[in-house]
Amino acid sequence: MLNQAFAGTGQFAEIRDAVRGLCAKFPGAYWRQLDRERTYPEEFVQALTDSGFLAVLIPEEFGGSGLGVQEAATILEEVQRAACNGAACHAQMYIMGTLLRHGSPEQKSKWLPPIASGELRLQAFGVTEPTSGTDTTSLRTFAKRDGDRYIVNGQKLWTSRAEHSDLMLLLARTTPKEEVTKRTAGLSVLLVDLREAIGNGITIQPIRTMMNHATTEVFFENLEVPAENLIGEAGKGFRYILDGMNAERILIAAECVGDARWFLEKSVDYASQRVVFDRPIGQNQGVQFPIARAFAETEAAALMVREAAQRFDSGQPCGKEANLAKLLAADASWKAAESCLQTHGGFGFAEEFDIERKFRETRLYQVAPISTNLILSYLAEHVLGLPRSY
Ligand SMILES: Cc1cc2nc3c(=O)[nH]c(=O)nc-3n(C[C@H](O)[C@H](O)[C@H](O)COP(=O)(O)OP(=O)(O)OC[C@H]3O[C@@H](n4cnc5c(N)ncnc54)[C@H](O)[C@@H]3O)c2cc1C
Repeated sequence: MLNQAFAGTGQFAEIRDAVRGLCAKFPGAYWRQLDRERTYPEEFVQALTDSGFLAVLIPEEFGGSGLGVQEAATILEEVQRAACNGAACHAQMYIMGTLLRHGSPEQKSKWLPPIASGELRLQAFGVTEPTSGTDTTSLRTFAKRDGDRYIVNGQKLWTSRAEHSDLMLLLARTTPKEEVTKRTAGLSVLLVDLREAIGNGITIQPIRTMMNHATTEVFFENLEVPAENLIGEAGKGFRYILDGMNAERILIAAECVGDARWFLEKSVDYASQRVVFDRPIGQNQGVQFPIARAFAETEAAALMVREAAQRFDSGQPCGKEANLAKLLAADASWKAAESCLQTHGGFGFAEEFDIERKFRETRLYQVAPISTNLILSYLAEHVLGLPRSY
């Protein structure tokens, strides 16, 4: 029975019910097995694809459901709320926005229908590099125009799902940094067809991480990409990627709210049942208060996610709200994770409770896709008007 305190607003009830129904087929035992072996949740991703959830943002004319970020956020929140892991495929939702907003009519007709039907996966997003880190405009991967193709050389790091995706959205330099007047200029977005590229200019090395995340390192050596796969105009790619980042932050924030609600419900159930010194541990305010605080922070974060998603869908500026949502939700999920582990005492560390797995999974969102410090820096500079620090 679902605890109503963690049910959210009740908005999009049909979507919530449908996602819950799907996720019920992928219980903790399924995820624990994958986690142990560090294998990809193929059946889960296929089920989400078949149900159309991953195509929610693709317009109906291209075979998707033409819904908004509010619905997409609801889907991802419920996935996490059910202790599943949307990180296996969430990127398809926000990466696709770059193609949708900046792709040519030909590119959209070519790529969006097979992505919507699930025939092709667009789940790899190649931005981060080993030497540039968060300083994206210093990235070094270079795509040199040569007639009707680009020749790509360089390296990406943390390119998640590259081994499980057919397409990669790649951000590369097309004009050297020294030759542009603004550091954000001279970067371009290419759609790389990994089916052709692997073994023909691309090598992918998996990186084993503290959670099951299918992340990789990708090496480009004279990779040929048809010039027709350039998205939008050459040199303007940084802006295109930035455009998609608000959606990404809102969706990740929604996942964190889902995580937090799962942790909170687990905490309340256990604290009510576990008897120590002849009374439920939840009767002690030392146990109650961290849970209550994490609950308050989760509900506040959920409101901000909703506000940001509504603004995004109605075309209003939402940089402030998307960043606040990501910051508050990642903090709330981490607090909820911490209080859940503590509430469970030793049992929190046992695999079968799924808490330690979710604890590891939700920790990522303090760092990726953007770290907490960088969000604070955005708020300080762009919202509060404090002096630029970097
Ligand atoms: C599991 C995983 C999956 C990922 N998936 C993808 C993916 O699919 N595609 C992709 O492109 N990237 C991906 N990333 C990369 C992720 O976006 C970056 O790790 C993240 O943006 C932080 O960059 P960095 O690791 O280079 O940290 P760095 O930039 O090296 O920063 C290290 C630390 O220093 C802090 N810091 C840096 N500069 C400042 C400053 N000026 N002020 C204050 N603090 C600062 C940061 O906040 C951070 O805590 C993934 C990362 C992980 C771990």
